[in-house]
Amino acid sequence: MSVMDILDKRAAFSFEVFPPKTDVGMEKLCGKGGVLEQLYTLNPDYISCTYGAGGTNVGKNLEVLDKIVKDGKTIGVTHFTCIGNTKEGIKEQLQTYLDHGINHMLALRGDLPFGWTGTGGDLHYATELVKFVRQEFGDKFTIAVAGSPEGHIACRSLEADIAFLKQKQDNGADYIMTQLCWDMDQFRYWLDAIRAAGIWMPVDVGIMPILDQAATINMALSRNGCVMPRALCEIISKNWIFPNPFVKDPFDADVEGKKASFKAAGIEYTINQIDEYRACGINGIHLYALNKYDDVAYIAKAAGLLDLI
Ligand code: FAD
Repeated sequence: MSVMDILDKRAAFSFEVFPPKTDVGMEKLCGKGGVLEQLYTLNPDYISCTYGAGGTNVGKNLEVLDKIVKDGKTIGVTHFTCIGNTKEGIKEQLQTYLDHGINHMLALRGDLPFGWTGTGGDLHYATELVKFVRQEFGDKFTIAVAGSPEGHIACRSLEADIAFLKQKQDNGADYIMTQLCWDMDQFRYWLDAIRAAGIWMPVDVGIMPILDQAATINMALSRNGCVMPRALCEIISKNWIFPNPFVKDPFDADVEGKKASFKAAGIEYTINQIDEYRACGINGIHLYALNKYDDVAYIAKAAGLLDLI
């Protein structure tokens, strides 16, 4: 079964996890009764696992995906990047994934590590990676690619970004997984624009649950330059932890109260956002599970995502 078979018939619902750095984190995610096994109970169509820049966590990424595939409850999708990878190294790693039964990938350029100006590998863009994978492995992989509704932070224009997205399709990509986007007007504009450009690939929308103030600001601004709508800014301002949400020991007397009220408002915001996306006619919702269960399960259930299956 491929993600494309599902997307051909109906909207998909999936999760994203990341490989924990520590053994304790791995046990929490992959151990008996751990987060992965809890997530399976929600019957996601697939679970993807991120891939660290420069392949720093390749071992753990493979361990996580190996478990997903062996458990046989859902499809495992690996993220994969060009960062620091030679063509030979890419071939070896991808063959290893296939040997482990992992035949779905998200082909990315990758986030450039701090201070780097290029990928430091043989391939420079996701367009090249998609072409290379098709050349070397034919149709063995189902290939997703990233789409940036607000334009990638380094793109020279939204039009150029859309042209490169079309090139990913022409090179053999199957479907799009989107970058975080809270600006729904921009999203609708982008969806119309990619369809007008001849991009027919299904669009699986990435949603980061709004649970933590610092993580939300960090995700929006540290790399992606995401627009934060007024309503989201209000949630952040009303629950601002003084002096700021990034310090380890805030002097704010109501840190716990504010964290809880931020999370409650953030969850409501996330559910409403999923409704808005679904009303745009998108092809799937991809929830960043953040290696947690309770909050994402609540969101998935309240947003009606379990009924998609
Ligand atoms: P590309 O599509 O290659 O685009 C990068 C930039 O180059 C853009 O500005 C684009 O306009 C431009 N460009 C593209 N093609 C060309 C070309 N042929 N010639 C000239 N310019 C071009 N990063 C990780 O490191 N690990 C992960 O696991 C990971 N998971 C992600 C999951 C999702 C769903 C998304 C959306 C992103 C993820 N990222 C991850 C982040 C991603 O790697 C970064 O956004 C990265 O900066 C760009 O990757 P890309 O595949 O979009 O790059």
